[in-house]
Amino acid sequence: MRVFTAALATETNTFSPIAIDRRAFEASLYARPGEHPATPTLCTAPITVGREVCAREGWDLIEGSASWADPAGLVARATYEELRDEILGQLQAAMPVDGVVLGLHGAMVAQGYDDPEGDLLGRVRDIVGPDVLVCAELDPHSHLTARRVAAANFFVVFKEFPHTDFVDRARDLWAIAVRALKGEIRPVMSVFDCRMIDVFPTSKQPMRGFVDRMFALEKSEPGLLSLSVIHGFMAGDVPEMGTKVIAVTDGDAAQGARLAETLGRELFSMRGTFMVAQVDEKTAVDAAMAAPEGPVVIADVWDNPGGGTAGDATVILAELIARGVTDVAVGTIWDPIAVQICFAAGEGAEIPLRFGAKSAPRTGSPIDQHVTVKRLVRDAQMRFGESYAPFGDAAWISFGGIDVILNSTRAQSFDPSLFSAMGIDPKSRKILLIKSTNHFYDSFSRIASEIVYCSAGKPYPNRPAETEYRKARRDIWPMVEDPWTARD
Ligand SMILES: [Zn+2]
Repeated sequence: MRVFTAALATETNTFSPIAIDRRAFEASLYARPGEHPATPTLCTAPITVGREVCAREGWDLIEGSASWADPAGLVARATYEELRDEILGQLQAAMPVDGVVLGLHGAMVAQGYDDPEGDLLGRVRDIVGPDVLVCAELDPHSHLTARRVAAANFFVVFKEFPHTDFVDRARDLWAIAVRALKGEIRPVMSVFDCRMIDVFPTSKQPMRGFVDRMFALEKSEPGLLSLSVIHGFMAGDVPEMGTKVIAVTDGDAAQGARLAETLGRELFSMRGTFMVAQVDEKTAVDAAMAAPEGPVVIADVWDNPGGGTAGDATVILAELIARGVTDVAVGTIWDPIAVQICFAAGEGAEIPLRFGAKSAPRTGSPIDQHVTVKRLVRDAQMRFGESYAPFGDAAWISFGGIDVILNSTRAQSFDPSLFSAMGIDPKSRKILLIKSTNHFYDSFSRIASEIVYCSAGKPYPNRPAETEYRKARRDIWPMVEDPWTARD
């Protein structure tokens, strides 16, 4: 057997001001054929798992290029086309192949392409013909377009959010592909459109129980090969945005359709109940001030660079300053220009500085303060699970009892070590203000006396009913209250 594999992935927040070019991919991950490191990034596990599987089976794995860019705004047209054509050229050269196993994300949007993955999969199908197996691993924060479903035999999607299972799901993907290539099964994909869009953290109920049940059904239901939920990605303004359920069965599309519908209607019945309750900046600051002891963590949940925003919103910080709150550490505010100024001034300098809120509307105003430059760190990084996440050249500035870390590489606040990396003991402050939606919880909950989830300003289109979409469908909840009877 000869199997081709490659990866091309990013998550596009079409409302984000941070445009993506080839350099952005190269800064995150760009690996030529055979040069992918031994450890996978989020969307490239099909390559590393494919190496193990093909070695075990005695099959040829033909590796194409692998690219990943951290979530941000629109991908430049030329960048997408170059990366796509590179992979298609490699596939063409590898022909004939028996299968194609890809690592995608599924929420990329490029200038001129609302559905780049559908475009890529369609072109892959054109090259290999109708009888070759084509499958891919996807992130649930993606758009499941009809074009993708038509072009691929099946998809397997991460079940967990936070995405702790991307390697396990790549193993599922390959396990199904291997059995199909050996002729033991014939995977077919059934999709149910839930007619909704929501956010589904799986670390809490009700989604925890739902995911556990999907695992149980995969074991107990005869003929069922895989179940997935496409959560959808509300920051991607594309025509086919929304939540969908995928069932992959052994040749029984009707069984798959039944299962997908049952699960999909269950998700719909729980709409609006998945997220942790959030408060505005005034209530968040009240709660933090009232806490008997620290550190109280205020999470600026929607200015999360992990969802493609700039990460420079100042709404909550401005509220803290206006209320005269002290004993605060902020990690981080993205402002490469201010960092550059601090580096020029040097450690110990006292300077007038304008920082933050320079990138997008409805994220507050730039902060003007006379600051002391306390510490400067080149190529700063924080821990993230077993690995490290870089946040670039960084400056610790201080004014009026508030410490702020300014960074030059956008990064969400994964771990309290972002403070210690700059010389600030996170446990020593009453209030820690951070930027993350969900990923911060595991590490910060270990030191926090209390966690306050704050929705401040509008850095991210998190209220779909109010978002000014130009392309996304409007016949789904919460844009309409009842999408089942409202449709014609
Ligand atoms: Zn995701």
